[in-house]
Amino acid sequence: MRKAFVAGNWKMNTDSHTSVNLAESIASGSLEIAGASVDVAVCPPFVYLQAVVKTLSASNISVGAQDIYVERQGAFTGEISASMLKDIGCNYVLCGHSERRHVIGETDELIKKKITAAISGGLLPVLCVGELLAERQANQTNEVVTRQIKSGLAGLSAEKVSAVTIAYEPVWAIGTGLTATPQQAQEVHAFVRKLLLQMYDGQLAEDIRILYGGSAKPGNAADLMRQQDIDGLLVGGASLNADDFLAIIRAAV
Ligand code: PEP
Repeated sequence: MRKAFVAGNWKMNTDSHTSVNLAESIASGSLEIAGASVDVAVCPPFVYLQAVVKTLSASNISVGAQDIYVERQGAFTGEISASMLKDIGCNYVLCGHSERRHVIGETDELIKKKITAAISGGLLPVLCVGELLAERQANQTNEVVTRQIKSGLAGLSAEKVSAVTIAYEPVWAIGTGLTATPQQAQEVHAFVRKLLLQMYDGQLAEDIRILYGGSAKPGNAADLMRQQDIDGLLVGGASLNADDFLAIIRAAV
């Protein structure tokens, strides 16, 4: 049985006050269930990570970063390493989010290095994959997701891959209000699990969590979570509102 996992990606939002207030509200509203029946994480901007880690220290909510750099330390102006994130109490890190792939221009090769660096530094990476609208319309979804997963996990042993969560996030559904139907999402999730079965062993494919992301909201979370291969949700916009995020967390239980 895979435990449900709901993660909030705050992107480049909140400030020093609202980040802490949001974290406090999420913690107090999920006291009974976070960690017990559903894993919960929030991913604030880098500059608010420490304040949010402190705010959540007495809760069972984990904190993740939205990105990392591939090197451990040194002359890499502006970058943040896995060991720095671990040092301040982060557990998770998003790698290959579609905004980093398609807005910032990250390549499959760079994302692979980030996944490897995250695991070496003791973080749990969430590898985000998903197709553009044109790719879906050209029936290339499986091909794109296969390339992103094979490349993102290249060279990693099954043991290391067991630290990874996959997030299927169709790019056309992120921040657009368009959600993949539960059936569309389930189809890709089942395909991803089959791919992992071919790449590794049956137990790993059975145990690995595959989240759906793309305009997840209180109104569609339960239907998405009912699908056999949807193990949780990566939530952008709706994670900035404590009531909405808490409703999504409850729908995942
Ligand atoms: C995301 O940022 O990963 C995401 C899924 O965003 P949204 O929920 O706003 O579509």
